[in-house]
Amino acid sequence: MKPVQSELKKWMQQNANFKENYLKVREEVLNDPEISEFLSLYPQLSQEEIDKNLIKLYEYKSQSKQCDRCESLGSCINMIQGYSPILRAENDAIQLVYEKCHKLVDAERQREQHKLIQSLYMPKDILNATIDDIDHDKQRGVGIRELLLFLENARTELPARGIYFHGPFGVGKTYLLGALANALKDYHISSMLIYMPEFVREMKSSIKDDSINEKMNYFKTTDVLMLDDIGAETQSAWFRDEILGSILQYRMMEKLPVFFTSNYSLEQLEEQLAITNRGGSETVKAGRITERIKQVSKEVQLYGENRRDS
Ligand code: ADP
Ligand code: MG
Repeated sequence: MKPVQSELKKWMQQNANFKENYLKVREEVLNDPEISEFLSLYPQLSQEEIDKNLIKLYEYKSQSKQCDRCESLGSCINMIQGYSPILRAENDAIQLVYEKCHKLVDAERQREQHKLIQSLYMPKDILNATIDDIDHDKQRGVGIRELLLFLENARTELPARGIYFHGPFGVGKTYLLGALANALKDYHISSMLIYMPEFVREMKSSIKDDSINEKMNYFKTTDVLMLDDIGAETQSAWFRDEILGSILQYRMMEKLPVFFTSNYSLEQLEEQLAITNRGGSETVKAGRITERIKQVSKEVQLYGENRRDS
């Protein structure tokens, strides 16, 4: 008799624990701020329905919502990586559905862009650049202040103008763009950073296939376009007028910002753009481009030592 009795006792004990645990979890779930808000929005949900779906509610509670508890897609804590839970009430029934999280949407968009546009790049030493890592030295103060102002405004509405950073080699112009691109990700603002010499090469080689229009569309419509080292590319009247001119025109009309880095001031760039591979000088057309650059960005000079030597 004894073994049965002790088994029974054990079972009763476990059962008591189970009930206790159940009540604890139930209370935790129902007190979760998001869940109680959800339930208050749908008073028609019966107590029976709520209790029946306690597991779903618990699942919802345990998951990261739109990346609020995940640093990166790779370290996503959710049951289905890259998917974020949503609670719904349909026909007086509770439903738990999943949608792609911001980080997954962003990663997929980037993958798609990179598949199409080979020259999109982020230099390795800049890949992890962050705004917090930017040294606030006096020489670059104005540039950094402008960048922070842009970011602050972007939080509520994407500003119509970016920044045209110019200054000597190695002062950290590209680094600033990398840091900005990374910061914008947190606001779910997409950006494309492209190195001008590669950009020209890639667009020229796409003339033959049909991809050029699709590529143009990406450059026209991405939230924030970043053109790195403008003026360093081989000058071509076709690229200047048909590609760059048309992208800038579109972005100007749509009030979409563009960031630039250059070794040249805008005045110097204008001279540079006037010299084409046809040999002549095309000051009017070059002037048209710099006018558009001014519409989509604000010129800021960066000073400082060459950081590549240190
Ligand atoms: P530029 O584009 O003006 O020629 P870069 O942005 O390439 O200059 O910067 C030159 C080097 O200095 C790069 O290796 C970059 O990683 C580093 N660098 C620039 N700014 C910073 C910074 N604020 N903190 C750390 N490293 C920086
Ligand atoms: Mg650079």
